[in-house]
Amino acid sequence: MNSIRKDFWILEWETLLWSHNWDADKKLKLSQTVNFHWFLDNYSSVDILKFLCWELFLNRILDFKSELSKNWIEWLALDIDETLSATSTYWFEKLLSIFWNPENLTAEQMASKYHLCQNVPYWKWNTEIFDLMYKFREDNDFQTNIPIIEWTNLHYSKIHSEIISILSYITVRPDVVVDGTSRWLDSHDFPKAELIHIPYELEYLFWNLWKACVLDVLYPNIVWIVDDNPSLIKMLPQRYKWEIFLFNKKELCDYSHINIHISENIEQVIRNIEKVFL
Ligand SMILES: [Mg+2]
Repeated sequence: MNSIRKDFWILEWETLLWSHNWDADKKLKLSQTVNFHWFLDNYSSVDILKFLCWELFLNRILDFKSELSKNWIEWLALDIDETLSATSTYWFEKLLSIFWNPENLTAEQMASKYHLCQNVPYWKWNTEIFDLMYKFREDNDFQTNIPIIEWTNLHYSKIHSEIISILSYITVRPDVVVDGTSRWLDSHDFPKAELIHIPYELEYLFWNLWKACVLDVLYPNIVWIVDDNPSLIKMLPQRYKWEIFLFNKKELCDYSHINIHISENIEQVIRNIEKVFL
């Protein structure tokens, strides 16, 4: 047994990683014992990804990395959901057209209160809702219908052609919807760039760890990313200096190893990017 596997096993993470059939309570209990930073401090991101993903996936990232390393150029990466697309509100709209919510909230209010459908307490144990969520997640046509956040396509096309090249979209959408996501990006004329999706099988609790490791592997070719997720920032290992344009947020506590530019809307993101690069 190699040592990362042994540590995963000792911490019961391996059980958690492959525990799709467990009930939410059991997962929650185990997830509370997980300290991802210990792993990030003790293992390389390549080793962690090797454990989390199929080898094929890791090799693709490493090939991409070696391609990038031929140039001393730094690029910008973009998240997709809630950074380019209003995904959460769309999911809530779809679910509210079928299921009742006792708080009588609109889709927008639910998205702002719970962020993700799986966080709604009175939906948590409803298997019908979870089955539908899995269906949405793996449906390519569903992805193509998600509304765009207004003007993001025009702004990022301008940034790409005039300020800094967009190299990659890094998303926790599963790899079974690469086609739908790619059609969505093309239909809105977003700049062409490498599309990196999370492996379909990976358990939700590991998504931020996965993304932090991918960014860690791609450093320093990618130092800048626009993302809406403060939990990702907390996860980034302290060995490098990232610069994050945090979208759609008003405030955030300070993380000394990362430069964070808070933006409440796309215009502010652009202003922050211009401040850094022009
Ligand atoms: Mg996002």
